[in-house]
Amino acid sequence: MSLSAGRLGATAYAGTQDDAVPARRLKLLADTAHDLLTNSEPREFLARLFQRLDSYCGLEACFSYRVEGDHLRLAYCTGIPDGVAQTIDRLEFGEAVCGTVAQRQLPIAKEHVQDDDEPSTSLIRSLGMQAYCCHPLIANGALLGTLSYGTRTRPRFTADEISLMNAVSGQVALAMERILYMRRLAAQNDDLTRANERLEQFAHGASHDLKEPVRTMRNYSQLLSRRIGRKLQEEDQQLLEFVANAALRLDDLIDGLLALIRIETGPVSATPVDANEVFGDVLHSCRALLDESQAEVEVDVLPRGVLADPSQLGQVFQNLIANAVKYRRPEGYPRIRVCARRDESCATFSVEDNGQGIPAEHRESIFVPFRRLHDRSIAGAGLGLAIAERIVQRHGGRIWVESEPGVGSTFFFSIPATEQGER
Ligand code: ADP
Repeated sequence: MSLSAGRLGATAYAGTQDDAVPARRLKLLADTAHDLLTNSEPREFLARLFQRLDSYCGLEACFSYRVEGDHLRLAYCTGIPDGVAQTIDRLEFGEAVCGTVAQRQLPIAKEHVQDDDEPSTSLIRSLGMQAYCCHPLIANGALLGTLSYGTRTRPRFTADEISLMNAVSGQVALAMERILYMRRLAAQNDDLTRANERLEQFAHGASHDLKEPVRTMRNYSQLLSRRIGRKLQEEDQQLLEFVANAALRLDDLIDGLLALIRIETGPVSATPVDANEVFGDVLHSCRALLDESQAEVEVDVLPRGVLADPSQLGQVFQNLIANAVKYRRPEGYPRIRVCARRDESCATFSVEDNGQGIPAEHRESIFVPFRRLHDRSIAGAGLGLAIAERIVQRHGGRIWVESEPGVGSTFFFSIPATEQGER
């Protein structure tokens, strides 16, 4: 279908050749798609879209309403005085052309508007429109609003123009839906960040308040033991010791819980790190434990380009090494072997021990906070593996264990690594 300059009166627009129309139409749709994808401010892309449509077919006015609860709210308009825009800021469903389109969820094209006397067109008549076309903005079955265009200089739009407006309305609806999702996501993210901050503050406050009485228990039981310990019967001395030990355990538990909450709520600042350096520091800090248990540690060359928070990666190694020593077999000395392999985008570490091993039915539950397979004869809060798991997961990796009871266990964990990282 050709567009004739004469029919558009004074409005300037380019291209009147039949074969140029599909190309211009395609370009308009492609440019609109680009605008909608790169612009997240509806008023801006609606203004640009109006300019494009105006140069394509000549328009004087555009209105876009968005659904706001049980009514419509004017989100964008051009081609009418500001004062008038304020008077049509809100429309009820079924009111005027846009309200009717929203109610029926079907487009309406009006021609020779100045000559008709329908109540629904009285508003656009008063605005001087001659031809008017309104489309519902529907994405995934949900009505988001309406988009309409009007002209005061022609009595009607052509079928080609109406179908073009229909096509751009579909594009706008999808873009609006994307923006709504993004805004919702951003709001949820803000909520989550605030909830995390509150949780961290609460944990900090609670741990401080809990530690205070625990410290008092520990100090007074020590004081009592010093003052009257020798005068007490063996059984009573033991009771006093229980109190002191319980206070110590509670202290460890509070520290562990606080560490877990910090991992859960804190940021992960992953940078390329050399796992050899991280593990070297861990060996250094575990030296006393390893010497005391006469543990033998064999370490492979580890990957250099591991994408991790170095102190958190160190914490994972430290927890696994400490467990390898703690859960050793009564006979013999702990032997620990640390290896790693790299593939395209991740490094998988293994920490192997010759300890007591873990029965198959417990190989998943040991990662649950407070889940222990051992009694209090071996100290522990039951949080070391839970902390290790959360660190690994928050880095985008996973942790698991293979084990043979009575022979030993191998803990594996994967962490993303730089693409070109060296072994
Ligand atoms: P904790 O050591 O403080 O008890 P963890 O979360 O580190 O807490 O470990 C949970 C439980 O898993 C331990 O209590 C122990 O029973 C078992 N476990 C962990 N590591 C090993 C290991 N290397 N060998 C045998 N059992 C282990």
